[in-house]
Amino acid sequence: KAKRAAASKAGASYDIALKNTEQGVVTRFPPEPSGYLHIGHIKAALLNDYFAHEKYNGTLLLRFDEYVRINSLPSPNPSLREEFTSAILEDCALMGIKPDKTSFSSDYFQLLHDYCIQFIKEGYAYADDTDKETMAHERMEGIPSKRRDSSVEESLARFEEMKTGSEEGQKWCIRAKISFDHKNKTMRDPVIYRCQLTPHPRTGTTWKVYPTYDFTCPILDSIEGVTHALRTIEYRDRNLQYEWMLNALKLRQVQIWDFARMNFVRTLLSKRKLTKLVDKGVVWGWDDPRFPTVRGIRRRGMTVPALREFILKQGPSRNIVNLDWTIFWSTNRKYIDPISPRHTAILKEGVVTAHITGGSVPSASAPLVQDKPKHDKNPELGTKKVAFSESIILEQEDAKLFKQDEEITLMKWGNAIVRKIEKSGDLVTNLELELHLEGDVKKTDKKVTWLSSEGLQLIPVELVGFDHLLTKDSLQEEDNFEDFLNPKTEWHDLAFADGNVADIKEGDIIQFERKTFYRCDRPFVGDGKPAVFFEIPTGKTSN
Ligand code: ATP
Ligand code: MG
Ligand code: MG
Repeated sequence: KAKRAAASKAGASYDIALKNTEQGVVTRFPPEPSGYLHIGHIKAALLNDYFAHEKYNGTLLLRFDEYVRINSLPSPNPSLREEFTSAILEDCALMGIKPDKTSFSSDYFQLLHDYCIQFIKEGYAYADDTDKETMAHERMEGIPSKRRDSSVEESLARFEEMKTGSEEGQKWCIRAKISFDHKNKTMRDPVIYRCQLTPHPRTGTTWKVYPTYDFTCPILDSIEGVTHALRTIEYRDRNLQYEWMLNALKLRQVQIWDFARMNFVRTLLSKRKLTKLVDKGVVWGWDDPRFPTVRGIRRRGMTVPALREFILKQGPSRNIVNLDWTIFWSTNRKYIDPISPRHTAILKEGVVTAHITGGSVPSASAPLVQDKPKHDKNPELGTKKVAFSESIILEQEDAKLFKQDEEITLMKWGNAIVRKIEKSGDLVTNLELELHLEGDVKKTDKKVTWLSSEGLQLIPVELVGFDHLLTKDSLQEEDNFEDFLNPKTEWHDLAFADGNVADIKEGDIIQFERKTFYRCDRPFVGDGKPAVFFEIPTGKTSN
């Protein structure tokens, strides 16, 4: 792990470049509106945005890639398309990604259809009714289809039949006539058009035939003016086919740049699987803080600049690695630490009351309230109120380690000597502490957080910690992910927080001192319910 972290730091440059950029740079991000964006998609989106808008003075296109899926179950829910489409636009905006133009692949169905006709007429494609199994077998063995040498007229007639969606038409498909035995199997006459009766989410029942990804992608990239198409590395075998399509159509070539798919340990990055977890109620929704979606990780406390930095650092790597969340969250910590106000929360369970004596301790009826900096090293964050009085609360975890007459430090107040410890069984119930403000805070080993019971309202808060949804680091092809769902992934603790916490808004990131960083998920509104704070991983633990 340490080695991997060091390696990633060493490679921490954004010095990733494209070739042949003299004629300008146009990139595109092509999400399929079948779910919310996850961190893998964001890698693709950010790289495209980086090249178009940061590295070169270029253009970024956003194209909703929405070809009809055949044989892919469960099919993306069409009624949710609008929701997914707007969520993708919103999430891009949240990430600071501003496409210069947005389109839908379905905008081009007529054009793609016309190209298919052109293909058939020029002898680059033929109609085939070979059944699926036979076709797969022939493709594997390099055997030509019995329809490969059909005449142009015959294939055109079949295509017309397909367009009616008739029972006969549904038996046929159109295949590019590239090669039946090329050593690259993606070149073995790929299917370019299929018959499909399910209404399309945008074009309804206008069409009964639809272009495949292999046909659509190169054509749209070329005609939309894309100069550099970034694709994840598993498409590499298809590059040859992509080039072939453009050559055959006499369209401008597009430069392909491969990048590695991003995977994380104990994390699902597949919309299909994430959809299943949403539908089954395993999580609260697409923005669940345990989800690797843009919304999920933001809700968990990830900040946009940290996410950008993390992803651009991964940029040049073409090795598919299973990333550890540790580096991701420690990058985030670097951003939030200097700007997160410090507050105090004392766990409710086993809370201990302490009576303070000595010196000039403000009485419980006349507490002292002072302004203190929200962050010792960042005065720009302003001040907060801190109350002092003879009656304070402490955490059980701290109090139970106190020894008779030991000198301890009450953080941001000063030292005190433990004069009396009252217990009920193993639990400390009450303490008497004698202030010793002359004592050296550097010499004590116990520095504890505390809150005055008087002077400022104690704000009820719920602190929520999360764990990964999966129990296995790296799922294998044959694993059913549902067998590896973590049975317990959330922890809830009630606590009392300092009065300033009443002003914290949803989305604010703070630190509860001697605990960790938290993001406010539900502010305090005084309706009797606690404010809710989600623990932000800091990269020190593995989650
Ligand atoms: P999923 O399996 O999650 O649905 P997908 O590739 O089918 O992923 P698309 O909406 O088609 O989802 O993807 C949009 C873009 O995001 C594509 O360019 C795709 O290559 C890229 N992408 C998807 N997942 C990852 C990932 N884990 N790492 C890097 N890029 C990814
Ligand atoms: Mg896809
Ligand atoms: Mg997919």
